[in-house]
Amino acid sequence: MKIGVLGAGVVGLSATVELIRRGIDVTCYEAGTPMAERSAGDSRIFRLAHAYPDMVELAAKARRLYTGWAERAGEALIDEVGTVISGDHTSAWAAAMAAAGAGHEVVEPGSPLLRVPARLSGPALLDPAGGMIRVDRVRTFLVTAAASHLRQARADKIESTPGGVRVWSGPTAEEFDAVLICAGAGTPALAADAGIDAPSALEHHVRFSFPLRPDAPQPPQCLITQHTYQHSSAPGTWAVGADMDPAAVSWEGGREAAELASLAAVTAYVTEELPGVEPRVIDRLYCTHNPGLSDGLQFLRQGPVLAVHGENLFKFAPLLGELLAQSCIDGSTPTDAGPNAA
Ligand SMILES: Cc1cc2nc3c(=O)[nH]c(=O)nc-3n(C[C@H](O)[C@H](O)[C@H](O)COP(=O)(O)OP(=O)(O)OC[C@H]3O[C@@H](n4cnc5c(N)ncnc54)[C@H](O)[C@@H]3O)c2cc1C
Repeated sequence: MKIGVLGAGVVGLSATVELIRRGIDVTCYEAGTPMAERSAGDSRIFRLAHAYPDMVELAAKARRLYTGWAERAGEALIDEVGTVISGDHTSAWAAAMAAAGAGHEVVEPGSPLLRVPARLSGPALLDPAGGMIRVDRVRTFLVTAAASHLRQARADKIESTPGGVRVWSGPTAEEFDAVLICAGAGTPALAADAGIDAPSALEHHVRFSFPLRPDAPQPPQCLITQHTYQHSSAPGTWAVGADMDPAAVSWEGGREAAELASLAAVTAYVTEELPGVEPRVIDRLYCTHNPGLSDGLQFLRQGPVLAVHGENLFKFAPLLGELLAQSCIDGSTPTDAGPNAA
């Protein structure tokens, strides 16, 4: 069997590496540099904690698979410092973890179990299996494992053939039995060629990094509040991303205006709510983002073409690799999860 994977972000590479492991003839097209778009940077948050029990269970499976990757990579891929959830959604997320049988604890602000540089109000949910994903290490592992199956080429267009799918790159075409589209912001255009309507609205998003004050608790846990995500992205550094008013980060408004608005909002938040952090930006990570699906996973199929859509996909990467590889091989469609699953 011959499979084409379009896009070498963390999702496409995870599927490619799993297909290679299963002995499949796979080619992964990448228009730019592998893992340099939405999968860029050095770190992401891992957590079992989610709003829905099915998502907690999927995250637990992903965590086990990350351990398998770490054994193959020869180094830890997640710093298991724990993740803290704070805000109005805390009790609902705790209930989802309880329903999924995931270890967790609800603690009051000021608990000695909390190690975050933030001022918290109200109970917080401790997810001890959470932590910081070492994106740099995952990138090295996946790119090395995908090796000669990676093709530096843009997939311009796909079309169905009697036996499968043809992928065009410039004047060159190659036929595959099945094609997996995981091209991030490039997915809707490629999916449309196959008659798949993938959500295409885009927003700008920026995560900013600040210095942690020397007296900040160590090692800090990752933190998810009602409207922010935060973690130590490198020793002494605290990265913060915030949900913004959609009008402030709209695609039409342009990247520069979105970055300025995000910078003002995040810096004000750090000044007011994070006593353990200096409100001085030392780094930033920009990406495009499809709003609307929060933590959910959505799989879209048309004949031999499968596309994947979702946000916060990094934590699920090895699981997505398995699910997508299996579905490419047997023609099935993985089950949607999260807010769109009901
Ligand atoms: C700042 C930030 C913070 C985040 N925090 C978290 C977090 O804490 N936890 C978490 O789990 N997730 C987090 N995420 C989300 C997570 O990183 C993304 O969901 C994930 O990396 C998406 O991977 P992907 O492979 O789908 O997309 P991408 O990494 O964008 O990969 C798509 C690839 O396809 C290529 N491509 C596009 N069009 C074509 C084409 N026509 N032909 C060939 N190649 C093409 C692109 O060049 C790109 O390399 C965060 C994202 C950002 C940016």
